[in-house]
Amino acid sequence: MINKLLIANRGEIACRVIKTANAQGIKTVAVYSEADKNAQHVKMADEAVFLGPSPSKESYLRGELIVEKAKELGVDAIHPGYGFLSENAEFANLCAKNDIIFVGPPASAIEAMGSKSAAKHIMEQAGVPLVPGYHGDEQSEAVLKGAADDMGYPVLLKAAAGGGGKGMRQVWNADEFSQALNAAKRESMASFGDDHMLVEKYLTRPRHVEIQVFCDTHGNGVYLFERDCSVQRRHQKIIEEAPAPNMSPSVREKMGEAAILAAKAINYVGAGTVEFLLDEDESFYFMEMNTRLQVEHPVTEMITREDLVYWQLVIAEGKPLPKKQNELTLTGHAFEARIYAEDPSNEFLPSTGNLALLRTPKETDVVRVDTGVVEGDDVSVFYDPMIAKLVVWGENREIALKRLLSALSEYYIDGVSTNIDFLKRVAGHPAFVSAELTTTFVEKHHDSLFYSAASVDTHENIPVMALLALLHRKKNAKDAAKTPSVWSGAGAWRANSQHSESLTLLCDQKEMNVDVKHQSEGVTYSFDLTLDDNNYNVTGSIADGVLHATIDGYKTAYTFSENDDEYTLFNKDTHSKFTVISPSLGDESNADDDANFSAPMNGTIVAHLVEKNQAVKKGQPILVMEAMKMEHCITAPYDGSVEEFFFQPGELVDGGSTLLAFSSKEADEG
Ligand code: ADP
Repeated sequence: MINKLLIANRGEIACRVIKTANAQGIKTVAVYSEADKNAQHVKMADEAVFLGPSPSKESYLRGELIVEKAKELGVDAIHPGYGFLSENAEFANLCAKNDIIFVGPPASAIEAMGSKSAAKHIMEQAGVPLVPGYHGDEQSEAVLKGAADDMGYPVLLKAAAGGGGKGMRQVWNADEFSQALNAAKRESMASFGDDHMLVEKYLTRPRHVEIQVFCDTHGNGVYLFERDCSVQRRHQKIIEEAPAPNMSPSVREKMGEAAILAAKAINYVGAGTVEFLLDEDESFYFMEMNTRLQVEHPVTEMITREDLVYWQLVIAEGKPLPKKQNELTLTGHAFEARIYAEDPSNEFLPSTGNLALLRTPKETDVVRVDTGVVEGDDVSVFYDPMIAKLVVWGENREIALKRLLSALSEYYIDGVSTNIDFLKRVAGHPAFVSAELTTTFVEKHHDSLFYSAASVDTHENIPVMALLALLHRKKNAKDAAKTPSVWSGAGAWRANSQHSESLTLLCDQKEMNVDVKHQSEGVTYSFDLTLDDNNYNVTGSIADGVLHATIDGYKTAYTFSENDDEYTLFNKDTHSKFTVISPSLGDESNADDDANFSAPMNGTIVAHLVEKNQAVKKGQPILVMEAMKMEHCITAPYDGSVEEFFFQPGELVDGGSTLLAFSSKEADEG
């Protein structure tokens, strides 16, 4: 019986496991590092134990310490999640030695699958189809190259100890072999401390299809169908789906049976995934077996309506599998998109920082968000930068895909770079829509999936950006008016009735000038904008981080965030960032006044910074005033000149007094 479960993991998977434990009435213990002191998984668990400093080696990978704490707290079982200690045979043994159930396979099964070459030997003997290749012990370059020459190019060099696509190299012809081998060995040695290599026939257009298997301690095994994880970047999964599109029932059954065969060959127990490459001619080949719960397990849960963590716990307790093969059904279609803090346009470089804005689509029966963070949390440098997994279900692939796109368009994150726009481009790509999936999808469609922000036509967004900047300033002005002590606040300079100004936005390193005529004010504000000889009537309001905009009669809503004067505006397809260069935000004087500047409260004129009638440039400081011991500088709202200063330096002014008259250059010329 498991009454108390320790989750030796963090983030979304720790939260995920806790949810099922809670539902089963099992008490939970979280573990955490310095960086995770306030993490969600710690808050969700009944108890939490501190492990040490943030680096995984000093916290989440400290198997002995984790087992020691588990014993102290009377824990019955440890769930390792994925990553960290999940495929560590020593840790599984350590749990067993201490009479703690390891929620996973026996150590021997982990060991058997730990080396790709050893695993291939076992599978070969069990009669599981393998990609043609060499997985022997003889490692001289001559032998490896001889094997490659025999099977014909292209070939794939793989690190026997590999994982996460590391130590892997494609070799397209004999001339490239030596160099590729050296590179793969170096990478493998650096990542795994071992440079044993495999040579495989490189399939040029395969799909990555994997089977979810479960085995119990009574010798039963079932498969919960397949997942297609073909869409990858650098051998890492981006969007997974279940079932695999266009998979014939006969191939499904054959692959499912091959997976059970693979699991039985190593006396497997628990949840496991057998990965296959599926070739165009429907032949499939064993690639490897992951001896843990996979990141992408939710798509299987969606189509089978089973809780895989529940299954793991039942099996860990020594009970038989919850269902037999013929009791399992496959319903509808599911997708999972991995939301990462990374920059796809910069080689998917991880991004770290604070999740200043985090809005997720509404969770329903068909939309699920598995995450371990909330708005305001940090994405730290110490761990995998996955923010969440967005999972959707539909009656068929088409419906599920529509839901995926719609949910992605409701996912807004600011503070770190994310792959959300990239995911939208992948999911919306015609080849993805028509399920033309291969592991080279991203490479093949590179040009339409990656484009620099600069090539996006942001021009059409400018009126929306201008509207947002104007409304936000109005809001700041109102807020500041409520707290008069904020001298530099926007309320400092009251609007006059004449409303016309020029606004400059910086977007994609381009300055965009917008002429603004203020029309009406109230709950919504209305402006006439002129941009490159085009006129727009824009109306809108902002509340709770959402801009409701009507641009020439077209109504739409945008989520936005503001960070140090930089705005991020999210719409269905993408997001745009811009800064207001002038007038400076929160300074209504510049904005709302043609040529009048009034003091908001009593104060003293400190200095005139320009001469009367001197030509001044937009943004140039013209007058300094002091009030409440703070200086405030007034800048020119546009090119022009001061016609008259009504007060001299040293003079006291009353709140509301007009300080100067300003005229625009245009007015002078006109
Ligand atoms: P890792 O353990 O490093 O993730 P895998 O063996 O699981 O490595 O392979 C990762 C990915 O590499 C697969 O999903 C597939 O896209 C690609 N791959 C692996 N073997 C082959 C092959 N023989 N031919 C073509 N692509 C392959």
